[in-house]
Amino acid sequence: MSLPLCPNCNSEFVYQDQSMLICPECAHEWNPLEKLVEEELFTVKDSNGTLLNEGDKVTMIKDLKIKGSSQVLKVGTKAIIRRIVEGKDHQLDCKVDGAGEMMVTAKFVKLA
Ligand SMILES: [Zn+2]
Repeated sequence: MSLPLCPNCNSEFVYQDQSMLICPECAHEWNPLEKLVEEELFTVKDSNGTLLNEGDKVTMIKDLKIKGSSQVLKVGTKAIIRRIVEGKDHQLDCKVDGAGEMMVTAKFVKLA
């Protein structure tokens, strides 16, 4: 496994000391796992508490009124998650069967 370049000075002489990476040229020390941990904090779960990912297929667990229209997404309607965004609700940018693209709240769907 090759080590990354130093993010501080782009030195290629970085070495590993336990979980830390150390640059001998500018003395910069960092933990390569820290960034990964931060990314994992942002997660979106469905009604069953299952982690949702982009590309997952989901179904509606209840009838959902579409904002600004009289159309309703019926329970059982299928959708594919195209993008997940951070937020209290409407986290899922979905392509919904028969309705097109829209934002759906994660707790109103379950993994198909
Ligand atoms: Zn450096």
